[in-house]
Amino acid sequence: MKTPIVPFFISHRGCPHRCVFCDQRKISGAEGAIPSAGLILETIREYRRTSGRPAVEVAFFGGSFTSLPHSTQESLLFPLQPLIASGEVSSVRLSTRPDSLDSERAGFLRSLGVRTVEIGIQSMDDQVLSLAGRGHDAAAVERAFGCLKEQDLTVGAQLMPGLPGDTPEKSLDSLSRVLEMGPGFIRIYPALVIAGTGLADLHASGAYEPLSLEAAVALCKVMLHRSLLRGIPVIRIGLQPTADLQRAGTVLAGPWHPALRQLVEAELFHDLVSRLLGEQAPGGLSATVVCNPSRVSDVVGQGRANMDRLLREKGVRIEGVRTDPVYSSHEVAVILPDETRRGDLFNNIRYSTKDAYND
Ligand code: SF4
Repeated sequence: MKTPIVPFFISHRGCPHRCVFCDQRKISGAEGAIPSAGLILETIREYRRTSGRPAVEVAFFGGSFTSLPHSTQESLLFPLQPLIASGEVSSVRLSTRPDSLDSERAGFLRSLGVRTVEIGIQSMDDQVLSLAGRGHDAAAVERAFGCLKEQDLTVGAQLMPGLPGDTPEKSLDSLSRVLEMGPGFIRIYPALVIAGTGLADLHASGAYEPLSLEAAVALCKVMLHRSLLRGIPVIRIGLQPTADLQRAGTVLAGPWHPALRQLVEAELFHDLVSRLLGEQAPGGLSATVVCNPSRVSDVVGQGRANMDRLLREKGVRIEGVRTDPVYSSHEVAVILPDETRRGDLFNNIRYSTKDAYND
């Protein structure tokens, strides 16, 4: 069972920047005051009590932790030390900017029980970073990775395809450079136009158009698949649907969907079943798909979208989806009247850069 995470949001705290896409308060749904030691300890106690688990992981999300004054970082980490020593807090994770990290700061985090650091990378293209007002270049990301790895910290990489000046090709190039650096996991947040941000002004003036939902799904599908092939987990696609984010007038434009990941996974499974069907002659053929129980909704697609598409594109009616726990979550079989074709996302799917474009 996964260790429960006790999250503290410190939105914009410590952050000397205002990136064009960012309104941390709306994204995280929290104002982001610095929690007191008392509040931290009480919240941890409450999580341990309600979860019934002996240990929890503490997370400081939002903002840029290592840009906070050193004394503030200490005020957040010092109260955890007795709990880390007793095993009640198993580890600490936090997020920060790449240019707010160096060997000394990485060592400081390691010494106080931090084991995972997420860095907002967004892109490895210097022009995209500059247009996004990030205030650092791709070399800063490489340096940050180096410092964190030196301390044996797990690095989480956040990428944001679809920023001004970005293209699917640049996003894929950013991903491969990040994969080369060996992150522990990746989050993909396609850029959204959120009210009150620089992107909102750019969009209103006609200078910026975000990805459409379809384009984001096509691009994220290829990004997810490439990460999968490298064995790097993508732990999130699309922002968490917080109440703030879902309030009318918050997301002004862009590929917003509360279940973006599911759309992306359903695309992958559509492509897998489609490859296994090959070139079927239109007209009357039917098939059954077998998959792991966790994958039924991905095989079927939202509103049976994949079933309808396969009938339209391949002339094959999928009569049923059967589950079999022996199948891994990456494989399916297609049972046709005279043969069964079994395959998986690793061996039966290859995407080119062109597949990341939705045209
Ligand atoms: S994305 Fe991070 S660095 Fe940029 S303004 Fe928001 S909190 Fe600051």
